[in-house]
Amino acid sequence: RAKHSGGAGHQVFTPQMREHTIRMARLENELKHGLGRGELRVVYQPIMALDEGRVAGFEALLRWQHPEHGLLEPGAFLDVAEECGMMLDIDRWVLREACTQLRRWQQESPHTPPLSLNVNFSARHFAAPGVYEQVRGVLADTGFAPERLNLEITEGALLARPEAIGQTLEKLRALGVRLHLDDFGTGYSSLSYLHSYPLDTLKIDRSFVRGMLTSASSAELVRTIIAMAKNMKMRVVAEGIEEVRHLDALRELGCDYGQGYLFARPLSVSEARQFAREH
Ligand code: C2E
Ligand code: MG
Ligand code: MG
Ligand code: MG
Repeated sequence: RAKHSGGAGHQVFTPQMREHTIRMARLENELKHGLGRGELRVVYQPIMALDEGRVAGFEALLRWQHPEHGLLEPGAFLDVAEECGMMLDIDRWVLREACTQLRRWQQESPHTPPLSLNVNFSARHFAAPGVYEQVRGVLADTGFAPERLNLEITEGALLARPEAIGQTLEKLRALGVRLHLDDFGTGYSSLSYLHSYPLDTLKIDRSFVRGMLTSASSAELVRTIIAMAKNMKMRVVAEGIEEVRHLDALRELGCDYGQGYLFARPLSVSEARQFAREH
């Protein structure tokens, strides 16, 4: 992407920009092939019911087993996927893969209590045509119960295309799918949209959880989010619980659910099954 220079009227393309562009193009090409070659993986992080300390469900998180660079986290490639328009394909793949894996697991261990599955959708995804039909199709194909699926949406998505998004969310909700607002508190200050959409759960961003023991304002924010959610009959999930002190403080405030390294890192399917058996 070339930047316009002052008044000269021509474009300046620095060596750094050139290098960045080449790197992005290579990654984009590798990602396209990687999706086709089965290099993408889904890992599962437990979400715990804080009062009982049992597993309530799992969040599906994307990984890329890159042939040279090893296992990559989303931070290393999601912006490239977003830029080259692959995000929808990837989200769709994750949804189908995770529903298939969890359904198979349920069938193999019918005595496992029903677990919910959280899947992240990029902001753009909810505004794309046919999302509802596509989610319904994956649920029908895999036999995964809609009531067990939580789709995670970010605040940015709600502000981007309110009209189209509102209808899509209503239809998904009518199907039984639950909607969780991810990274809550990091995006926008306007809270008016909370009333406008059929959201079930707020996920408190991990930056506030991390800060709540040392910063009075973070602690106050966490307290306020939990109180507000209760008022609105919504549930709360706290992200990034790393220490027992976080857990104690959140329990005290009446936070329903939590996830974080204190309980478990994102796990492979077999590790997740083991974890669910033990908790
Ligand atoms: P997120 O949805 O907020 O997911 C939580 C992130 O926090 C995950 O990072 C998880 O590994 C990390 N995490 C969980 N507990 C802790 C903790 O105690 N401490 C710390 N420091 N981190 C913790 P991950 O897997 O790297 O994913 C990063 C982001 O990438 C996700 O944030 C989500 O926005 C996005 N993402 C992941 N998978 C997908 C996907 O399939 N589709 C889309 N659209 N986005 C995805
Ligand atoms: Mg998430
Ligand atoms: Mg989150
Ligand atoms: Mg987050």
